[in-house]
Amino acid sequence: MARYTESVCRQCRREGVKLFLKGDRCYTAKCAVVKRHTIPGQHGQSRQRKMSEYGIQLREKQKCRRAYGISESQFRKYYDMATNMRGVTGDNMLFLLERRLDNVVYRLGLADSRPMARQMVNHGLILVDGKKVDIASYLVKPGQTVSVRDKSRDMENLKELREQGASKPIPKWLELDADKLTGKVVAMPQRDDIDLTVEEHLIVEFYSR
Ligand code: SF4
Repeated sequence: MARYTESVCRQCRREGVKLFLKGDRCYTAKCAVVKRHTIPGQHGQSRQRKMSEYGIQLREKQKCRRAYGISESQFRKYYDMATNMRGVTGDNMLFLLERRLDNVVYRLGLADSRPMARQMVNHGLILVDGKKVDIASYLVKPGQTVSVRDKSRDMENLKELREQGASKPIPKWLELDADKLTGKVVAMPQRDDIDLTVEEHLIVEFYSR
């Protein structure tokens, strides 16, 4: 997958919203979106003023893609998958993104950010139904459990989670047993479970042009 080489904070500044890519720092006054309100780059301000319809759709797509840390080609595949599912394409696309294993690890609070969650999955620290799954794009289903392998339970953030419980709300389609560092998928995600502020219809319009 293509890797971002620019600062992750720059991605948030570019989209004008917090994408929560840096863990705890994102909740402090050090966050670059809080400290600096401008779009990065020499022409940042003029880009903001002259946004075309296409530009607005593009930015919405980029914001969502960057929040989940997905390459353009992979993101497009989610759109294609969503169009072949029953229901509303935009909702389906968000549900697929939410069900990714790296996102579930993040949403359960087992990682401080999605990039950290992805690293944990890639490094084989995460089990699904007791078996190692090191594919970040793996889609979880209701009834499955997601846990941290025993050898990694002493990671600093996991110790905190065990001692203090989750610091962020867990979406209702997931349940966490903080002591066991185990989450259960109890339902499919619903639209109101998704905390990213995104107008998914703009993404659908972008791809269906
Ligand atoms: Fe940086 Fe996090 Fe703030 Fe984004 S939300 S600008 S990643 S500190």
